[in-house]
Amino acid sequence: MGEPAIAAEAHNSAPACHAIAVDGSAASGKSTVGQRLAADLGYPFLDTGIMYRAMTVVALDRQLDISDEGALGELVRSVEMRVELAVPSTGKASKISVDGVDVTDRLRSQAVEDAVSLVSQIQAIRKAMVALQREIAGRQPVVMAGRDIGTVVLPDANLKIYLEASLEERARRRHQEFEAFGRDASRDAVHADLERRDRIDSERDVSPLRPANDAHVIDTDGLTMEEVLREALSLVRGGTDDEE
Ligand code: C5P
Repeated sequence: MGEPAIAAEAHNSAPACHAIAVDGSAASGKSTVGQRLAADLGYPFLDTGIMYRAMTVVALDRQLDISDEGALGELVRSVEMRVELAVPSTGKASKISVDGVDVTDRLRSQAVEDAVSLVSQIQAIRKAMVALQREIAGRQPVVMAGRDIGTVVLPDANLKIYLEASLEERARRRHQEFEAFGRDASRDAVHADLERRDRIDSERDVSPLRPANDAHVIDTDGLTMEEVLREALSLVRGGTDDEE
């Protein structure tokens, strides 16, 4: 089996550039924290969830059976994904396209929410995404958020942060976000969806969700987002206390 086309320029060595890994489960706050750290450092930010979501959009568009490993493997080897990183310090948002089609606005539909964890447990998909993520980190300093950044994608990242939060707390936050966007979903439905995704993400054979041994774990239950950010920023600035 050849290398995925997507990963043509990838390398397997540690990134030469400065890299910060922010991992955690769905709605743990990793995007907010990652973006804020990137803004503080003037680094680009990559939320790797968008890459798995983009592959899911394309798999659904092509009406593939998302449990068919062979079909998804073929898909990932035949398409070209391009990611423009967000630059939070300038307000630039990320963009992602597959085979020249911009799918950025289609990443958060319910169909994608339902299918993305299944798509992302397929080995060929992970292999291609990880290779592209490493290639990106080899090109420039970056803050990268995901599930396996500290464990698999960038094991030599300069700093690894892992955000923990109870399912109840994450369901509360995600439901609030949905309400703010005017999206119709009951708190129970959000809770059930997160629980389902957590289970698939943590129990899968390839790169299951878990903190790296050398990650700084922040338990965010009972903390405001400002408090979490303060702790993360103090880690970036080399301290272990709460001072900015
Ligand atoms: O972070 P987000 O919720 O957008 O990620 C969507 C899905 O993509 C996750 O539920 C997970 O299955 C997958 N994912 C992953 N590895 C990453 C980032 C996301 O498996 N590094």
